[in-house]
Amino acid sequence: MGKRSKELFVRAGRCIPGGVNSPVRAFHGVGGDPLFIRSGRGSRMTDADGVSYIDYVGSWGPLIHGHAPAAVKTALRAQISLGTSFGASTESEVILAEMICRAFPSIEKVRLVNSGTEATMSAIRLARAFTGRNRIIKFDGCYHGHADSLLVKAGSGVATLGLPDSPGVPQEVSGLTTSLPYNDAEIVQRALEHYRSEVAAVIVEPVAGNMGTVPPAKGFLQKLRKLTREHGTLLIFDEVMTGFRLAYGGAQEMYGVKPDLACLGKIIGGGLPVGAYGGNQAIMSWVAPQGKMYQAGTLSGNPLAVAAGIAALKALKKPGSYSRLEQMSAALEQGLVRAAAMAGVPVQINRVGSMFTVFFTTTRVTDYLSALTSDTARYGRFFHALLERGVYLAPSQFEACFVSLAHSRRDIDATIRAAGEALRVVVSDQP
Ligand SMILES: *Cc1c(COP(=O)(O)O)cnc(C)c1O
Repeated sequence: MGKRSKELFVRAGRCIPGGVNSPVRAFHGVGGDPLFIRSGRGSRMTDADGVSYIDYVGSWGPLIHGHAPAAVKTALRAQISLGTSFGASTESEVILAEMICRAFPSIEKVRLVNSGTEATMSAIRLARAFTGRNRIIKFDGCYHGHADSLLVKAGSGVATLGLPDSPGVPQEVSGLTTSLPYNDAEIVQRALEHYRSEVAAVIVEPVAGNMGTVPPAKGFLQKLRKLTREHGTLLIFDEVMTGFRLAYGGAQEMYGVKPDLACLGKIIGGGLPVGAYGGNQAIMSWVAPQGKMYQAGTLSGNPLAVAAGIAALKALKKPGSYSRLEQMSAALEQGLVRAAAMAGVPVQINRVGSMFTVFFTTTRVTDYLSALTSDTARYGRFFHALLERGVYLAPSQFEACFVSLAHSRRDIDATIRAAGEALRVVVSDQP
């Protein structure tokens, strides 16, 4: 890490807990101190010391067009000159809501919020209001933001830090959340039978990204759909990461399963803070002021954030976006598989579309337990060796990395070359 990043981290540590505004930014998973970033352009970002990296974090998912895409910058400039917040309705929030409803057949009405956390928290409240039930089923290693009821076996940052469930969440609240192994529909069936008519919702990442990338087993989502319907339980797809990422209509389009409620975030804000939750008319009519379930936000539907989101979605809608993402991501995956084989390092590379994770294990990674078999020390060495070679991966084993539309064939080739060297370092450092 450069001198300037080091200085900034020392200063940050004096006034911000752990020196970071979100735990995943600290390099806890890989050791060392985090980089401070000055700017980003296309597939690259530049740190406070002027060193440039090919970036596969993409702000943790939002930046599907890469850094500072022209369309988003233009939209933001235009909106800034008109004003940044009114606390009253604007045409642009209607446009973004219409775009979301058109993209997701499961969403007839949508409420905009400011983050993925707000989206899942509100969807859970709505599911409880609508069903008159309290219990929630989630899956080990799935992260749904940091709301109290969902911070149970929550993958991602808590997995990296090796934390059990967070202090500060009353047992009365976490006790209403049941967390089950991902990809095991039979256990869900047993749980739904056990709790009878107590379960308001099953919430799932339809492709998990927060224990590293883990695809749904064949038929898993379909079985969840069937079981929840039979038990009068709502099925919530948390598509904060996968929405507009795996396909324009998200994982539900890719796997052909229609949830009752869907949560969005990340990409729909074009790099600014936006979240959303939506579903059919009957369920969404419970949301205030149409219904009684209260949920509000001073800056919700913020004109600047919405302008960025609209510009990002419009650009994504252009034909060829998803085939390009698939092509680049497949080339990267194949290159990494070859590089690992040549270096003699056993890895599992999980990839769905432009989400991928390199796990250092011989076990196939299909759920949280198998993700935990990964050698995180090896991942840490791999991460640092790549960083030294100008490639910025997620600084934790238990995260997804993202290919963007700004990554060029040259970026991919350079990454594969760097990974080949990094993988040899991983082995040679072995004690
Ligand atoms: C990122 C993420 C969230 C939380 O979104 P924030 O905007 O960070 O609050 C929720 N669910 C999933 C699946 C996510 O990837």
